[in-house]
Amino acid sequence: MSKAGDPRLVEIMRKTAVSSCNSLRLRLLGFPFDEGTVRNGGRPGAAHGPAAIRERLQNFGSAINPEHDINMLTANMVLEDGGDACGDTLEDAHASMRSLVSTALAEGALPICIGGSNDQSYSNASGWMQANSAAKEGLMINIDAHLDVRPVGNAGIHSGAPFRLMFEQPEPGFVGRLVEFAAQGAQCSQAHAEFVQEQGGEILWLSKLKAEGRSPADSFQLLLGQDTPTFLSFDIDSIRGSDAPGVSCPSVIGLSADDALDIMFRAGQSPDIGLVDISEFNPLVEADRTSRLVAHMIYYFLLGAASRPV
Ligand code: MN
Repeated sequence: MSKAGDPRLVEIMRKTAVSSCNSLRLRLLGFPFDEGTVRNGGRPGAAHGPAAIRERLQNFGSAINPEHDINMLTANMVLEDGGDACGDTLEDAHASMRSLVSTALAEGALPICIGGSNDQSYSNASGWMQANSAAKEGLMINIDAHLDVRPVGNAGIHSGAPFRLMFEQPEPGFVGRLVEFAAQGAQCSQAHAEFVQEQGGEILWLSKLKAEGRSPADSFQLLLGQDTPTFLSFDIDSIRGSDAPGVSCPSVIGLSADDALDIMFRAGQSPDIGLVDISEFNPLVEADRTSRLVAHMIYYFLLGAASRPV
């Protein structure tokens, strides 16, 4: 809710596009499933993520930000809510999510997908690849402590597998180049690192990013500006546990919350980014601080989008 003289993000949700041809339409989509995390040996709870974030967004975020001098109300953008994926099985939920993403892209909206377990990223990417098939290639940036290229086992798709599936079951005629960002060697296997490299992917290890003479967000921005369709996948277990405790698998090290917000701001500014997902927020592990972090991440993406040069 907004207060007198204090319009909040919800005003962007109520707005209708000033011009449907030129406006930037962003669409929240939810993936309220965590079976994929459980199949990967993790803790359940991320299924409650989308509802917790929607609730947080009802009250949070100044629509006119005096610190950054950005006014979302006068920017030609709207934030829609496209609802949640549904299904009785995880496989049905994936088909539903893919359809929601495809529909959003076909309607000219930029999906911001809130998980839920990280396996959502395969469905999201499939819809995005299909929509960008004419471009024939694209960039997938996976910000994650893990590489998420573990093979699918007998139990089916799981949260550690989405980026393997993009190579094993790709969209015909589309090549996705993978950059693994802020991965942590203590949580990634050598065989999986080799798999990424065999696919022509690149791994920017956390330690390397921290040792650069620039911030992680600066390194992230160097990946953009190629005029290539780009999918940003953000697993919040890449953010250190002191800043993001509410995940299935918290890490003692990682990106800072400040890094995450700076990355989301730069992503919002880039016209290359056509799809965003945020995975693994688990309110059953920790709900208060981490829901604020995820809401801030969405807010900073919107702030970046509102400050795009017209
Ligand atoms: Mn992950």
